Amino acid sequence: MSDKEFFVQQVSIVWFRNDLRLADNPALKAALNSGHPVLPVYIYPDGQRQPGAASKWWLDKSLRSLNADLETFGGKLYVLDARNSTAKDAFSSLTKNYDVQSVFWNRRYEPTGRATDEDLKKWFSGLEIESTSFNGNLLIEPWKLKTKTGDPYKVFTPFWRALQSSYSDHPTNRPESVRLVSDAGALIDELDLHPSQPDWSGKMAGAWTPGESAASETLQSFLEDHLQGYKDKRDRPDLSATSRLSPYLAFGEISPRQIWATTQTFINSKPELENDGWAFLREVAWRDFSYSLLFQSEDLAKHNWNDRFDAFPWTSNHAAELCWQKGLTGYPIVDAGMRQLWETGWMHNRVRMIVASFLIKHLRIDWRRGEDWFWDTLVDADAANNPASWQWVAGSGADAAPYFRIFNPITQAEKFDPKGDYIKQWVPELKDLPVKYLSAPWTAPELVLKSAGIRLGVTYPKPIVDHSKAREAALAAYEDTKQRELS
Ligand code: FAD
Repeated sequence: MSDKEFFVQQVSIVWFRNDLRLADNPALKAALNSGHPVLPVYIYPDGQRQPGAASKWWLDKSLRSLNADLETFGGKLYVLDARNSTAKDAFSSLTKNYDVQSVFWNRRYEPTGRATDEDLKKWFSGLEIESTSFNGNLLIEPWKLKTKTGDPYKVFTPFWRALQSSYSDHPTNRPESVRLVSDAGALIDELDLHPSQPDWSGKMAGAWTPGESAASETLQSFLEDHLQGYKDKRDRPDLSATSRLSPYLAFGEISPRQIWATTQTFINSKPELENDGWAFLREVAWRDFSYSLLFQSEDLAKHNWNDRFDAFPWTSNHAAELCWQKGLTGYPIVDAGMRQLWETGWMHNRVRMIVASFLIKHLRIDWRRGEDWFWDTLVDADAANNPASWQWVAGSGADAAPYFRIFNPITQAEKFDPKGDYIKQWVPELKDLPVKYLSAPWTAPELVLKSAGIRLGVTYPKPIVDHSKAREAALAAYEDTKQRELS
């Protein structure tokens, strides 16, 4: 009797990765169409960059939510713990217990993930198991849009125009019935994703509800309550003016196709919101642009896109870096952002740019150190958006802000947090300071500081660097790199 005759059940596997949802999931749809009962699988880790602490917290809740959704169809998420092995080992164990007919997944674009997937495809083929992949996570595959000369786009605006004119995809609905294999693998608890000793996640739990249903509700309430004015207000961290969909997108609890289609339907019914709707979709397209850069690069989180920056004289200043991480730089807008990040795992986009510029330009600390910190602390840490955005701020990226554009943390606070509400929320020790001094408390007269209960250097830090001197030093370092390159 051959081994095959012992196999109890023919199955199709759907391998969930950054697509933790049932609706608009092409891999799941194909598995359902295969005619075999479907085994929904999650392998941890999934062969990509190791998730940071905040992402692990989110992943824990997201897997539970997906599992609960699968239970409504009578099945369970089969979780495999591959911390001491590989995805191939995990599949190998499955092929011993099931007669696996086919495996389906949605593509990923990070070099290590792609290499794992290519290797697995060959391995499956050797076992005569069909494996098929789909686009489940982007509006358009990163290799599709090309310039007239046939090259990938390196500048966002023409990329966006090309995307607008060629995108015509439609999301699919949540399946009505799913025939699942009801076996369970490791328990999600066993992956130790939720922090312990200490459990620092209390404020995150108050700020977020991970999962597919919460993702749809977040989109719907954003469109209804905040789309109006998005174009003008999206830069204001003191207002609740953006969607906060980024972690849901990072874990694939909602797809960009669903966002596109729902937004289009919404603005069709309210034509007065058309400009705001397109401004929002334009931001969503930045995510696709980041993925096209990730796809073109060997390692976007490690290598300067523009290798001119390889010679940049970064400094090492552990004490200053620690002040930055803890929100103790003495620049209130920077500190507010870094504390929002620490407490909630998220930071407003405008403030991300300000704090990144501060680390790179005022402190001249390598952008990769900041990228790493964000990777560990963001709930939306994204393999494409995070390094692409850091390189954008550093000036080393494609279509980047020029290096000499140095965000002034004082005027940025005045412009984008005009009443100081954002600073007061995240830096409460400054809450009684009159607004005119909130962006630069060291300029307040001693009497004003005293009546606001502030002792600079004691209750709130003095600035760790002088803005004008830091700016000059950053420009000189850049000039020096340019000269060395020319000589
Ligand atoms: P909305 O304004 O509602 O935008 C909707 C969606 O569009 C976002 O969820 C996001 O997926 C996408 N988007 C918006 N702005 C950008 C942008 N500039 N670049 C790429 N996509 C964008 N975004 C991440 O998703 N993950 C990251 O790890 C990340 N790291 C960043 C690091 C730095 C230094 C900077 C400057 C930006 C970073 N961003 C990152 C981009 C941006 O800050 C966030 O996507 C945005 O703040 C998320 O909030 P939102 O969902 O309310 O955005």
